[in-house]
Amino acid sequence: MPELAEVEFFRRRWDVGVGQKIAAVTLHEEKRIFRGNDLTTLTRVLPGARLLASEARGKQMLFRFSHDAWLGVHLGMTGELRHEPREFSVGKHDHLVLAQSRQSLVFSDPRLFGRVLFHHGASVPEWWSRLPSALTSDAFTLERMQAFLQRRARSPLKGVLLQQEFFIGIGNWMADEILWRAKLHPSRAAGQLTDVEAREVWKTVRFVCAGALRIVAEDYSDPPASWLFRHRWEKGGRCPKDGSELGRATIGGRTTAWCAKCQPR
Ligand SMILES: [Zn+2]
Repeated sequence: MPELAEVEFFRRRWDVGVGQKIAAVTLHEEKRIFRGNDLTTLTRVLPGARLLASEARGKQMLFRFSHDAWLGVHLGMTGELRHEPREFSVGKHDHLVLAQSRQSLVFSDPRLFGRVLFHHGASVPEWWSRLPSALTSDAFTLERMQAFLQRRARSPLKGVLLQQEFFIGIGNWMADEILWRAKLHPSRAAGQLTDVEAREVWKTVRFVCAGALRIVAEDYSDPPASWLFRHRWEKGGRCPKDGSELGRATIGGRTTAWCAKCQPR
C-alpha cells in the first residue's frame, strides 16, 4: 500500500503535463474506482482544460485544471500514475487516460482499490479541504498530537499512528520506523507516554516523513541501511543499531516489526 512518499513519487509523474491541455479523455467508466462521480460532466469538461497544478496530502492527490475542473486520485493498494507517449496501446488496467499533445497521463489500477473523484466548481472540493493537515506542516503541533493520543489513550501506539484522520499518509513501514526511532514498544498505550516520550514521537514523525519524502519520493529509492525499513522483512532481520533479532507480531491489526532491546515493553 503506497504511503505518503510513494504517493508523492507518483504525483510527480504527471508533472510532465503541467501547463498543457487535455486533448481527449479515455476511461473505463464501469470500474468501481469511478463510483459516485458525474462522468458525463467529467468527459464534457476535461477535454480542452489545462492541467495547472497538483498536490499530495497523505495518501491522496489533487490535480487542478482550468475550466473549474479538479481530479482527486487515491492509489488504493495497487494504483499507479505514469506517463506514456501520446499514442500508446492502452492496457486493460489503464482505467483513466488523459491524452495531451506531447504525452498521455495514465492512472492504472489492477486490483481496483483506488479511487478517482471528479469535482466541477470554482473552489477546492470539499473532500479535499476537510483532509487533516500534512504532518510536515506547521499545523502538526505537539499539542494537537498529544490531544489526539489522549482521545485514544488505551489503544496501542502502532494502531494509533496508522489512523488517517490525524496521522495522514503514515502506513505500516513508517509507523514501525517511527516507533523504533522513538524507542517505544508498538503495543504501548497511546495515552501513557511521558512528555519526553511524546515529544520524541512528534519529532520522529516529522523526521521520518521528511526523510521518506526526500529519499523515496525522489526516485523510489529505499531508505539507507541505517533505517529499520531495510531490515523489517528480511528473514532473520536484525536491528541496524545493535544487531538484535527483530520481533514480529500483529499489533493494532497490522504486522509489526520492532527491536526488543531498543523498544522494551
Ligand atoms: Zn535495537
